[in-house]
Amino acid sequence: MSNEVLNYDKIAEASLAKAQRDGAETMWDRRAAQKTQCGFGEAGVCCRICSMGPCRVSPVPGKGAERGICGANADTIVARNFARMCAAGTSAHSDHARDIVHALHHSKAEGPYKVRDEAKLRRIAAEWEIADADTKETYALAHELALMALEEFGKPFGTQRFLKRAPKARQEVWARENIAPRAIDMEVTTLMHSTHMGCAADYESLFRRGMRTSMSDGWGGSMIGTEFSDILYGTPTARASSSNLGVIDAEMVNIMVHGHDPNLSEMVVLAAQNPEMVELAKSKGAKGINIVGMCCTGNEMTMRHGIKIAGNFYQQEMAIITGAMEAVVVDVQCIFPALPELAKTYHTRFVSTSPKAKIAGDIFIEFSEATGLDNAAEIVKLAVENFPNRDASKVEIPDIKQDTMVGYSVETIIEHLDAVVNSQLEDELGTVKPLTDVIYAGVIRGAAGVVGCNNPKQQHDYAHITVMEELIKRDVICVVTGCAAQAAAKAGLLTLEAKDKCGRGLKEVCERVNIPPVLHMGSCVDISRILHIVNLCADQRGVDPALLPVVGIAPEWMSEKAVAIANYVVGSGINTYLGVIPPVLGGPNFTKLMTEDCHEFIGAHFVFEKDPIVMVDKIMEDMEAKRVALGI
Ligand code: SF4
Repeated sequence: MSNEVLNYDKIAEASLAKAQRDGAETMWDRRAAQKTQCGFGEAGVCCRICSMGPCRVSPVPGKGAERGICGANADTIVARNFARMCAAGTSAHSDHARDIVHALHHSKAEGPYKVRDEAKLRRIAAEWEIADADTKETYALAHELALMALEEFGKPFGTQRFLKRAPKARQEVWARENIAPRAIDMEVTTLMHSTHMGCAADYESLFRRGMRTSMSDGWGGSMIGTEFSDILYGTPTARASSSNLGVIDAEMVNIMVHGHDPNLSEMVVLAAQNPEMVELAKSKGAKGINIVGMCCTGNEMTMRHGIKIAGNFYQQEMAIITGAMEAVVVDVQCIFPALPELAKTYHTRFVSTSPKAKIAGDIFIEFSEATGLDNAAEIVKLAVENFPNRDASKVEIPDIKQDTMVGYSVETIIEHLDAVVNSQLEDELGTVKPLTDVIYAGVIRGAAGVVGCNNPKQQHDYAHITVMEELIKRDVICVVTGCAAQAAAKAGLLTLEAKDKCGRGLKEVCERVNIPPVLHMGSCVDISRILHIVNLCADQRGVDPALLPVVGIAPEWMSEKAVAIANYVVGSGINTYLGVIPPVLGGPNFTKLMTEDCHEFIGAHFVFEKDPIVMVDKIMEDMEAKRVALGI
């Protein structure tokens, strides 16, 4: 096991030492067993799209095979592989969204799935031009809206409804460049067709098709996932929470909910609050039931209920290694297949719930929207009854946790901005004007969305935290989601006190608006919240978002979903900085297209930079150049 990538994370060091003592295998053992990773795969030049292959072409021009058996060159192979990552990432976010919409379609006044933000239901219904959106009976409207949303996945004609949220200038770019996404399933399907053997072999065409598909994630699947989750479970508001493995409680029944879909986690939270279940836990010798969150499920639960965050992606194994976890409950995405085996080293029950993510060695309790609360109750009961099986000699919970503030939805940010509206200038309430005012005045130099996963190619959380600390020091406000948000939570950056780490301008803004300099905006699908607020700012100033001093950053990304995200952020006119280089460098023309040439037609591009300090230097240059171009 190599420790060099863990130097930054002291909990990891202690936790992995315990794993070794307990004879438990972790991702670090498996990472070491991989030895040197495949250079062809890393450069993106390995193709196994047909069974004449696999073919691998040389990532270095002039050395080795330049074409696969069919004649595909490095740029074609790289572009096809990249496009397929876009399709997979888009399908994951969007299928998650579809489940949320199904839950809304099941919703009723009496029952666990109900409309909890009626104002948002009516607002979106009006945005989607449903007649009588303000007067229709709540559930008739919810069901009508859900059906319309389901059509966004498969409608034969037209583009995504939420595109109208962008300023006209951006919509014109999308129309001109033919990257306005149509139905989500159509985009994914046609991209898979395009990348089938013997179809698209033009790297630029593949790039554009990958971008349009990814746009159906950002402005379709993810945005639907966010908005409809808010209708069902409530729009997040600012609230206190706590983060890191120290939130696991030795005296309680601990249940970790891991994955993405709030349909499951909301029901687990409800089931665990049932007094009968709490009494059962007490009868087993526990003080109660402690639900903790991991990865994006952690974000979903904390921003709506203040549920504590056990950690981000890397820490899914470490939570089990504490020896104090009665059950790990998962739904979809970012779940290590290694977890069931690891759980068996301890007393932990590993429960999977989705047929889409059945994992060998699990206890499978199928979750459905029709029986959600019953399924959740069965899972919580199983965890409670497992409490007496805990082996006290194996319990070791790191004594580290950090208070944090979470839940800054667009609506909550605007509410905070309302508190500083300049009534003497007769400014309106309910707008982002105070934010654009401080950006245009130069008090804040710009804004950054810092998002994404963890990746052992970077020190755990080091790139996330370094980027955020350097940006706020230079008066750039950060909004964060996903595992990046949890890295920020653990580092204390999501607190009001973090203002002391900021430059003068940002510190003053934090004090006046009463916000942390790094704002928790939710899970990875909630990057759509970031898109929304950037576009509100652009609209308010009457410019294309591409002109604003705003960037997207994924310092430690690893999943195909992150590829789709990066693509739709670039497609939305926002330069995007990646700290892990995607597998494209073997295609020199494709790489140049991503990092330079696409700026010509989309107004934004990718930047690959592994060093977080150098990355921030580049971001500052980027923002200052945009400020000059805007004349601000
Ligand atoms: Fe090889 Fe072409 Fe088949 Fe890919 S599609 S495996 S490059 S023959």
